[in-house]
Amino acid sequence: MKIVKSRFAFVSGRTLVLVLMLCGLAVCEHQDHAHWTYTGEAGPESWGDLSADFQACKMGKNQSPINITGAKTTNLDPLELDYQDTPYEVANNGHSIQVNLQDAGKLTIGDDSYQLLQFHFHNPSEEAVDGERYPLVAHFVHKSASGDLAVVALFFVAGQENSQLKPVFSNMPGKEKEAFEGDGQINPSSILGSDLSYYAYNGSLTTPPCSEGVRWIVLKKPTELSIAQLSAFKELYSGNARPLQPLNSRIILKSR
Ligand SMILES: [Zn+2]
Repeated sequence: MKIVKSRFAFVSGRTLVLVLMLCGLAVCEHQDHAHWTYTGEAGPESWGDLSADFQACKMGKNQSPINITGAKTTNLDPLELDYQDTPYEVANNGHSIQVNLQDAGKLTIGDDSYQLLQFHFHNPSEEAVDGERYPLVAHFVHKSASGDLAVVALFFVAGQENSQLKPVFSNMPGKEKEAFEGDGQINPSSILGSDLSYYAYNGSLTTPPCSEGVRWIVLKKPTELSIAQLSAFKELYSGNARPLQPLNSRIILKSR
């Protein structure tokens, strides 16, 4: 007997499941909320197909993260940190632990100024330097008044306990969408340290929607955290790093 073709035959199994997932709720969610992960069916290789809004993940030519190698030494504008003590919360956003900052101050590079909004972590570091990834990276996300993003990446190596981040690593919410109010205030300058020499390149968000036009500032000098602090993070998020993306025609710069 010939089986009559379903009118949904053109929809692949996975797409259909996704559509049902998105629209199974009382209100059909906007596609921005398409579920994505770091492994399996909704992993990085599929991000570009999960939502029309995620196209840049597969079509973009200026994607992040990258392997930093062959950087061209030049006179880059110094990073001027005008950060201040601020109340904060530690949130589990389902993809990382994110520290949301209430009024952290700003970063100025030449004529450009950006407000610091939050920082979060990836294990291992998303960026590689000469092919090597660090055990952890923090991304400090900044936004200008006109909406341009600048992200400062700080690498971590295992060593001394990180006292500045102790209030964060000792009190991370274990459940997705959970957030804890920080005890006291935090000052991001003390986390970044004093050696602010950096690599610079143009890239994208490393998570969907992978939007481009992000100014990446990758600090050359790593800082330290203890094995116990690293383990505490890895217990919640291990492997939350997007694979390296092709450099294409971009140039990586390096401050002196
Ligand atoms: Zn990040």
